[in-house]
Amino acid sequence: MSCIFCKIIQKDIPAHVVHESDSTISFLDIHPCTKGHTVVIPKTHLSSIEDAGEHVLSTLLSGVQETVAILRKVLSPDAFSIGWNNGEEAGQVVPHLHVHILPRWKGDGGGSMHSIVQKDSVGTIEELAALF
Ligand code: AMP
Ligand code: ZN
Repeated sequence: MSCIFCKIIQKDIPAHVVHESDSTISFLDIHPCTKGHTVVIPKTHLSSIEDAGEHVLSTLLSGVQETVAILRKVLSPDAFSIGWNNGEEAGQVVPHLHVHILPRWKGDGGGSMHSIVQKDSVGTIEELAALF
């Protein structure tokens, strides 16, 4: 199996584990964007939220919440940016679903979710809404 995150789950390669449950592992990102940048992964290999069942989703979110609590206690950040790159074009490099948790501090110079992409949409919001 070639997935690097599955190798971390199997303990074939080391990681700095922040939290572990029956269903998830959280570990420090090797190329951190902020102090305490952590990724949370399900112990089941799947690449996209679209492939995840209810159990994976609920336990993954619990893993995120428990990890946030640990990061809060240890690092005392002011806030967190939490999210994931879902698909290659959105920046996903490791094809094993993982949630990024970025501790944030007042004045750290980082942006919000709105700074990820800033492309004008085509057409009006009403035209788009009609598609749904
Ligand atoms: P993504 O671009 O969403 O696929 O992010 C993958 C993340 O995994 C990146 O932030 C990498 O720095 C991180 N990463 C890759 N390999 C490892 C590893 N062995 N241990 C910890 N973090 C890793
Ligand atoms: Zn995997």
